[in-house]
This record gives sequence, C-alpha cells and structure tokens, in this order.
Amino acid sequence: MPELPEVEIAARLIGAAVAGARVESTLAPGVNALKTFDPPLHALDGTRLTGVGRRGKHVVVENDTGLVLLIHLMSAGRLQLYERRAGLRDRTSRVLLRLDDGRELRLREFGTKQAAWAKLLRADALEDEEAIATLGPEAWPDPPPFLPLLGRQPRPLHTLLRDQRVIAGIGRSWVDEILWEARLSPYKRGADLSEEEAAALRDATVTRLGEAIAHYEATLSLPLPDKLPLPLKVHRHEGQPCPRCGTTLEAVHFEDYVIAYCPACQTDGRVLKDRRLSRLLK
Ligand SMILES: [Zn+2]
Repeated sequence: MPELPEVEIAARLIGAAVAGARVESTLAPGVNALKTFDPPLHALDGTRLTGVGRRGKHVVVENDTGLVLLIHLMSAGRLQLYERRAGLRDRTSRVLLRLDDGRELRLREFGTKQAAWAKLLRADALEDEEAIATLGPEAWPDPPPFLPLLGRQPRPLHTLLRDQRVIAGIGRSWVDEILWEARLSPYKRGADLSEEEAAALRDATVTRLGEAIAHYEATLSLPLPDKLPLPLKVHRHEGQPCPRCGTTLEAVHFEDYVIAYCPACQTDGRVLKDRRLSRLLK
C-alpha cells in the first residue's frame, strides 16, 4: 500500500530524526525478510546513520560507512521510528536497528504474508541491484515527458502507470487519483494518448503526488501511525459523488484491487463492466 508519497514522507521524517544517530545493535526477527547475508546485518553495528532516501517505492537507509539498507515495504510493510525498543513478542517486527540513544528504527509488517524485504548492500552496488536498476524514471517531482514514456505502449494507462519499470512510485491508490485529475479513462491505451493528454497526465501526476506529500508534511509527525490517512478523492470513494462534477463514482473490482473512476469526467459517461458484478449475477 505505501506508494511514493507515503514512502517519501516516511523517508523525510525518519531521515531527519535519525541523521547522526549511532546504531548499537541490529536484529532480523522476521523470517526471510533480510534477503542478503554478505555484508551481514551486524556490519551496521557501531555505524552512524546519515539519512533515509527513497527510490520509487523503496526506502534507502544510509550510513557513514558506505552501506545502505534497501527496503521494499510491499503492501503491508512499514518503516517506523520509536522512542523505545519493541518487545520481542512483537510479531510484526522484521528488521530492527537499535540506536544507542534508546530509539529503534523498525521495519514492521502487518498481516500474515511475509513479503516486505530488506537488503544490506554496499552503496556503490545500489544502482546495479535489480530492484533499482529496473526502475523507470521517478514519477515525482520531475518526470520526463509522458508521450515518449507511454505513447508507444499498447497497454492501458491504469496498468502502465503502476508498472515500476515504466515509471516509479505509483500504485493502486494514486493511479486512480492521477487518472481522475487528468480526466482520462483507466482503460485508454498509452498508444492512443494525444500530446495534450500526455501533458495533462504528467501534470496530474506531479500535482496529485505533490499535494499528497504536502498534506503529509502538514499533518504527520513521528511516530508515524500504522495506517496513514491517505488524502484520496476518488480511490475507495466509489458510490460517492465525484468531487468535480457530482456524478456517482463507479468502480471495477478485481481480485486484489479496485479501480475507481468518474464516468462523466473520464469515460464519456460509460460505466465500465465490473467483473465482480457480472460474476455475481451469473
Ligand atoms: Zn466527475
């Protein structure tokens, strides 16, 4: 669930708070969450953290000895900084960095799946790491023009914008907001974008992601809540009036995600076929 704005605010707030702090000890209680063994996690012991960066939806914890802890939160992971250490019975703990001032930087994961991961890498190996090397350009703050990026693609915009190899940082929540902002159908194909539409889509991307980050800057502080209140207008708002035109927002349900959109603003008034409904009606 955490996408570019959520990872960005976590990186900013936590990065500012831990810069200069010394790591006293490290622990990886989560089975298989730590995907690397050389260098070992204990190589961080005694080092000083220098900040926290972001690449796409990845978090990069930086330190003063040229190591980086690359983290992917996947759908249910959270990076949080606490004043006190976790009890060892906290089953959400995956990777813990204990700071010598008593605080603890904690990769946690909610739910039963263990999908969030961390890799300890040498900083000069980060760019070659597959998860980073395959990322497209950052969706925010200054992505390249969208027509060259999306305009030759036969896939629908809803799929393209969530493809991290095409553009990095957007997922299931913000894609709905961006397409609504640009007044484009989730099913319009990249190859069918006009120059004006591509420019509007790029603007919408920068605007909506930027607004979300500004909202978080104004409302959040540490410790970050387990569930961030996402400032969404369209996603998860199906059945409610479109904030722009008042038409009822519709949705298409898939097994593990939902596309929400405004038929009047985005699909020339057409209500898209909802597979869940048609399956229920059979
Ligand atoms: Zn509308």
